[in-house]
Amino acid sequence: MDYFPIFCQLKDKPCLLVGGGEIAERKARLLIDAGAILSVVAPSFTPQFIQWQTEQKLTCIKASFSVDYLLGKWLVIAATDNEQVNQQVFQTASEKQIFCNVVDSPEQASFIMPSVIDRSPIMVAISSGGKAPVLARILREKVEQLLPTSLGVVADIAGKLRSKVKQHFKSITARRYFWEQFFADKALQAEIEAKRDNGIEQRINQLFSATLPPQGSVALVGAGPGDAGLMTIKGLQQCQQADVVVYDRLVSDEVMALVRRDAQRIYVGKQAGFHCVAQDEINQILINEATAGKRVVRLKGGDPFIFGRGSEELEALIDSQIPFSVVPGITAASGCTTYAGIPLTHRDYAQSVRFITGHGKGLNDAQWQCIAQKNQTLVFYMGLAKAAFIQEKLLSQNMSSTTPVAIIEKGTLACQKMIAGQLHQLSEMAKTMESPSLIIVGDVVTLNEKLQWFQSKK
Ligand code: SAH
Repeated sequence: MDYFPIFCQLKDKPCLLVGGGEIAERKARLLIDAGAILSVVAPSFTPQFIQWQTEQKLTCIKASFSVDYLLGKWLVIAATDNEQVNQQVFQTASEKQIFCNVVDSPEQASFIMPSVIDRSPIMVAISSGGKAPVLARILREKVEQLLPTSLGVVADIAGKLRSKVKQHFKSITARRYFWEQFFADKALQAEIEAKRDNGIEQRINQLFSATLPPQGSVALVGAGPGDAGLMTIKGLQQCQQADVVVYDRLVSDEVMALVRRDAQRIYVGKQAGFHCVAQDEINQILINEATAGKRVVRLKGGDPFIFGRGSEELEALIDSQIPFSVVPGITAASGCTTYAGIPLTHRDYAQSVRFITGHGKGLNDAQWQCIAQKNQTLVFYMGLAKAAFIQEKLLSQNMSSTTPVAIIEKGTLACQKMIAGQLHQLSEMAKTMESPSLIIVGDVVTLNEKLQWFQSKK
């Protein structure tokens, strides 16, 4: 962090502006708006300065800058068109440990001024640390479009309601729930935009009586295979509203970074050398948290309904009459193969796809016979440790030993790794890879050579 961002309270605090020209005018306007007691030192002043003086908004001192003018000042801005004078102001202010900004010269300043969107009391400040002011301005314009002009009024009303809300809703969760309704309420926004005081009051009263204490719920959310950009917008919304997030090993750090900062995080995944939390225990955590009125997100890697035991968790919630919803996610088979440049189907090579668990309940020989058919793509989840077994089963069903295979490790993440080979090499290939890894079997694997787009070719 090159600069420490703060908002200064300048109301009734003596500040100094050096310079009486047009550039200085812009700075003077800001300092006046902030309520500073402003002295302006310059050999001459624009008519605007003289007018402000007449309106008693500032004091003009017709003189050259000298150290005496710094006495008792909290903050100084040098805005003359004379570099030497600006430099002198900065040096003298620094010796006195007074924060000083030099217009258009961030390297000579002890504070810089950001690009500002003013919806007081809401203020958004954007800075590029003096490195790319145009980019800061473009960003400001973008943010500006997102923020309705009535935002300041909304924040003011909220400020006045705070103590009433605190009295009315006893728990923090209930209060947060009220505020979320309050800020999202379209009817209230319409009344505010139209400046109808009666309507605003009525709507607020309705919100007070309509806001029921929140009922706990669970959202089962698919986080996708790793790249946070692959989570759905619905999934993201759930993560940002959650009180509690229960997650496991496959959920990437990138995705966890998008979870609401104040949400409690409960890890229920496997750690090397430790047992994973038993399924019953996970179910119980979900039930307990939701029963306490919390909005729980059960975050799972990929899609929660594909080898995710998501449905088992929902059954437990149904038994406890806890409301739930499900947000699908991009499953590893889809995400990892796409990022590896392997299409799961292709008119010439594969007319169907099978998702198969390498773990779990056994498949009989008849099933392996179907699996080993041509013109399809096989995707084995949780197959890394069982690669030798998978290889043997497929070969025993007369699948060609030269059938193309690939293993994709940590797919869609920056550290994604992929190796390709032939079926007879699968178990050897698996020894060089780590979990989580996906095994792909089928002719589509060869398309990777042409279609690889993510990461450069090795
Ligand atoms: N519900 C998840 C799958 C859970 S089973 C989904 O829809 O994707 C766990 C297995 O998924 C892992 O053993 C691995 O085979 C596969 N997997 C999940 N994420 C992966 C990733 N980023 N890269 C490679 N394999 C992954």
